Amino acid sequence: MKKATQCVQAGYTPGKGEPRQIPIIQSTTFKYENSEQMGRLFDLEDNGYFYTRLQNPTNDMVAARIAALEGGVGAMLTSSGQAANFFACFNICECGGHIVSTAGIYGGTFNLLGTTLKKMGIDVTFVDQEASDEVLENAFRPNTKLVFTEMLSNPGVRVLDVERFAKLAHSHGVPLIVDNTFPTPVNCRPFEWGADIVTHSTTKYMDGHGVQVGGVLVDSGNFNWDEHADKFPGLTQPDPSYHGLTYTKKFGKLAYITKATSQLMRDLGSIQSPQNAFYLGLGLQSLDVRMERHCSNARKVAAFLDECPAIKWVMYPDLPSDPDHALQQKYLPNGSCGVMAFAVNGDRAYANRFIDSLKLITIETHVADCYSCILHPASHTHRQLSDEQLLEAGISPELIRLSIGLEDVDDIIGDLRQALGV
Ligand SMILES: *Cc1c(COP(=O)(O)O)cnc(C)c1O
Repeated sequence: MKKATQCVQAGYTPGKGEPRQIPIIQSTTFKYENSEQMGRLFDLEDNGYFYTRLQNPTNDMVAARIAALEGGVGAMLTSSGQAANFFACFNICECGGHIVSTAGIYGGTFNLLGTTLKKMGIDVTFVDQEASDEVLENAFRPNTKLVFTEMLSNPGVRVLDVERFAKLAHSHGVPLIVDNTFPTPVNCRPFEWGADIVTHSTTKYMDGHGVQVGGVLVDSGNFNWDEHADKFPGLTQPDPSYHGLTYTKKFGKLAYITKATSQLMRDLGSIQSPQNAFYLGLGLQSLDVRMERHCSNARKVAAFLDECPAIKWVMYPDLPSDPDHALQQKYLPNGSCGVMAFAVNGDRAYANRFIDSLKLITIETHVADCYSCILHPASHTHRQLSDEQLLEAGISPELIRLSIGLEDVDDIIGDLRQALGV
């Protein structure tokens, strides 16, 4: 199946007389005939559902659609993108472990890694994704368990040289985890370039309509955990909470995603509700069509801003003048996403007056859905950071993030024109 077909049909093939659309299985529990059957489920000897905190059929059908789109062997839906990134790391990195992460990542993930994981005894070294090989090499330690990064950074919209980062991670015997929220698998499949695990905030383009918060964790099945068994005892040594079962022995390529589901989700319980999974499944059906429109609208808006005298600079990888244009052409040839960053000619007060004058484009902490929206990270999402900390995170204090929705592009540009007075 091609991507557009996968968006509509992957993950669910109804049989005779069954619902055409993925049904919502709104049930906590599932019935079995005898205790032997139930016991086999608890031993992970049989596939099946017993409690929605671990797995639910609606969730699994939608997760299978996303796994197909990303080209992975399995996926698990989570209650939010934050939960997906936490599970992605914590599944293989525990107290005493260390993570190498790019610095310009989403503020929520930056806090998760830099503040909360630190409290759990996990150290993080943040690196500039454009740093030299030498600087990147020096970030690794003997206890490094993974490299974390974003395919397109939020809010800077920088393109990751994913092939370079995959090689770097693999040369240190650890997997590369890529948050692919902004490109979506329609515009880039990081597994094709060597990434091992992919995460998404499905709250963004995948849902696309601003109706549900959710996340997903996708496993390529490609990382050979047994080759680096001493680094990943959680996957390669017996799990006492499942009678000494060893994930890599029992599940092979599905070891990582099975552990995430049967151990972490069991114990931490951050599952997406079946109702939300249903909305996500609906959103995915038009993802291919929507991404094309988000990108074509955004290209026109970026070209307008690029030529507008009231604008100081624009960062949008699809612009030929963008420093990451060559990377965009390589990894995201059909377009990057609908999000761009820019600065106006003027101080913070002028920037805020401009934002307040917009009528169609709304001020929102959200991005990447059908509504055009705008945000000034230094005044909003990142206001707890000093200007120096912002710059360290690769975010200029003057940066304005603009997310282009599905409205008619002439209306979007018209609104920018009236607010800029040009
Ligand atoms: C929004 C976002 C997240 C966090 O997702 P939530 O669904 O809000 O928890 C993580 N990564 C990226 C790139 C995001 O844009």
